[in-house]
Amino acid sequence: MSLNKQKVVLITGASAGIGKATVNLLLNEGFIVYGAARRVEHMKDIESKGARIISMDVTDELSMKNGVDQIIKEQGRIDVLFNNAGYGSYGAVEDVPLEEARRQFEVNLFGLSRLTQLVLPYMRKQKSGKIINTSSAGGKVYTLLGAWYHAAKHALEGYSDCLRVEVKPFGIDVIIIEPGATESEWSGVVLEHVQKTSGNTAYGKLATAFVETLKQMEKSSTLYSPDRIAQLVSKAIHTKKPKTR
Ligand code: NDP
Repeated sequence: MSLNKQKVVLITGASAGIGKATVNLLLNEGFIVYGAARRVEHMKDIESKGARIISMDVTDELSMKNGVDQIIKEQGRIDVLFNNAGYGSYGAVEDVPLEEARRQFEVNLFGLSRLTQLVLPYMRKQKSGKIINTSSAGGKVYTLLGAWYHAAKHALEGYSDCLRVEVKPFGIDVIIIEPGATESEWSGVVLEHVQKTSGNTAYGKLATAFVETLKQMEKSSTLYSPDRIAQLVSKAIHTKKPKTR
């Protein structure tokens, strides 16, 4: 079921989890797909299936600019930007260094925002485009020890809602996806953060309980598969009517 073979999609966070699953699905649907992440060596599998690979760190201006320039040079357009790169910074507020809190925002909000700024002039010229931002169920609710993750995802929700209104007159739509707990590398990164920041502090008991809960959740079959989330992204791309909230 191909929407249009000429449609060009840029996906960040394509080296793992939700991003990689979305690359695979959209390749199957006939899109021209650019997958971006830092670990290009983790994208050889999708490259062999036809994805174009871009080395990109969403905290590095030059790598983002080079990536967008490359796509415009090769394809002349970007129809869909899937802003998906992110990680979960977890730990007690008292323990998390502000430097780490700032990094959480750099990756989960400002990186996405800068990439969006770089892509928007082309979408405006095209008079069309879809920007899909990966928030989280945690962009609406909160969990223990996740203050900075939730702060960043809640901020992303407000940012995306404002952006949607700004760019609508240019024929561009902004869509938020809010996955629940999904099988990927995400929880491994979260566990590392919790143990490092709060494992041996006054919040150690909370940290241990949190880690146990996360491990139990991983063992149970309650996690979404990344393929399921990729289907939501595909649905958002195929939906013609701009989403209003
Ligand atoms: P993974 O950890 O499996 O994938 C994260 C991706 O983000 C990787 O491809 C990683 O690539 C990329 N990334 C991280 N930091 C950077 C950076 N500085 N620059 C460029 N790329 C970066 O997790 P998921 O697939 O689960 O996560 C994708 C998104 O989904 C995230 O925004 C996450 O917050 C969100 N989410 C996840 C949920 C879950 O339970 N898994 C639930 C709700 C939302 P590399 O390291 O190679 O650069």
